[in-house]
Formats: sequence, structure tokens, C-alpha cells
Amino acid sequence: MPSVWEQGLSLEIDSIMEFEINTKGKELFLALSTLTLIVMMVITTVLWWFASPRLHEINSILADVSLALLRIFYLVLILGTILVFLTCFLEKNFLIAKFAVHAYIRILFPVTVFLGTLIGINKDKIRESFVYVNNSFIKAIKKKFRKKDIIILIPHCLQNIECSIRITVDISKCAECGRCNVGDLCQLARKYDLKVAVATGGTLARKIIIENNPKFIIAVACQRDLVDGLQEVFPIPVYGVLNERPCGPCVNTRVDVDLIEKAIKSILI
Ligand code: SF4
Repeated sequence: MPSVWEQGLSLEIDSIMEFEINTKGKELFLALSTLTLIVMMVITTVLWWFASPRLHEINSILADVSLALLRIFYLVLILGTILVFLTCFLEKNFLIAKFAVHAYIRILFPVTVFLGTLIGINKDKIRESFVYVNNSFIKAIKKKFRKKDIIILIPHCLQNIECSIRITVDISKCAECGRCNVGDLCQLARKYDLKVAVATGGTLARKIIIENNPKFIIAVACQRDLVDGLQEVFPIPVYGVLNERPCGPCVNTRVDVDLIEKAIKSILI
């Protein structure tokens, strides 16, 4: 069965949606991941070059096979990088070789964060930039979804810490008192007839996704949780919205609900 990304390629678009998604900031991750790829290629090539006489001694086939595997590995990563660049800058869906884009996300992302922190770039800055790269994918697919196929996932830390209502079990229990954005999101969900769920961690988020089988996810979270989730659910398109943390991490966080509403208007059929 074709994936959502592949379906997006062949989809007849009635109108080019005005997707109000901020993707400014994606350049940091794109530049850093390219640098990472070059560094990885240089290091592994040098290592192979030093190891190759020994490999030949053991078995000449071993040397040839290891070189061939190394080349295939990097060809996949280069292909993934090119497709991601084309998608991000031309805003058209070039994510056709899903395995290569997956490799780009799964392999290059952690190494890029590692290299970035080594040269003194804040981890969260890199993660944030990756969220903008991901949001460029959403912009590029130019696809609309039925309300039954959309789910909004929010973190528990959006709830006011003094609120005693257990919204993790049932968010509709929220009294919409105005002390936190959970009430605003409940109103938004009612207005557009969408599902909203509170994901208190990766395991619960996975469970919610399996149960609801969404085709499009709007996920609110901090940089770390968001990138973990994006990697986890690829190729399901996820619009990542970073929460604000005026009281520090994990407590009384806030989210720009207007930003979410604009995205809903853009993607809803
Ligand atoms: S808006 Fe809802 S979740 Fe937030 S404090 Fe009020 S009742 Fe609790």
C-alpha cells in the first residue's frame, strides 16, 4: 500500500494551500547534517584505508565486501540528504525514496546532534531546527486530510499544575477555566470536531497512535520529545509545534493555539 507521502505525490491538488508554518531555522540542521555526512565519510574512509591491508590478509573478499557496504551506506545517506534538501527548498514532495529519508533521519540526526554539541551548538537549537525541517516536509506534501484522520497530541505539562482534573484519562473533563491552554485546545477540538489526546510519554503516544491510526498528527511538545516522536512515527506526517516554557521545563508550559488553528484550517478537507 502506498504511504501517505507517496499518495501525496500523485494527489491532484485542488488548490495550493497557504500553509502557515514557520520553517525558518531549518538551515542550521541542513547545514550541520551535511557537514556531519562529510565528516563521517572522511573518517570511515580513512579508517577503512588503514584497515584494508589487514582485511586483505584475512580475506580479500572481506575487504571488497566491506568497501561495497560502506559505499552503499553512503549512497543511501547522500540520496536521503538530496531528497530532503529538494523537499525543503523547492517545497515539493521529493520524499519518494522513503528508505533513504528514513536513513537520513535515523542515522544522520543523532550524529548531527553529537557533532553539533561538540562544536558548541546548543542541543535544543539543533533539535528545533530539525522540527522546522520536518515541518517543511508537511508544507511540501500539500495534502489535505479528513477530520477523522487527524489527531492532536499534547503533553501533560500544558495542564496547570494546580488543576486536580485528570485530563490524561479524558481531556473532555477539562472545565475550561482559562488557567491553561488545555481548555483552549478543548474548544478548538470541539470547533473542528477533532481528537485531542494527552500523551504523557513515548509509550502512551505510541499506544494512542496505534489505537487511532491517524493520517496526520499535530504534536505539541518540547524539542527533545518532539524530535523523538517525529523519528518514531515517520512516515506519518507530523506538524510539530514547540511549547513555550515560561516557568521552566515540564511545568505550566504554554502553546500558541492560533498556530495550531491555522494549521488545522490549512490541512482540513
Ligand atoms: S483549563 Fe482545564 S486543565 Fe487547565 S486548569 Fe482549567 S480545568 Fe484544568
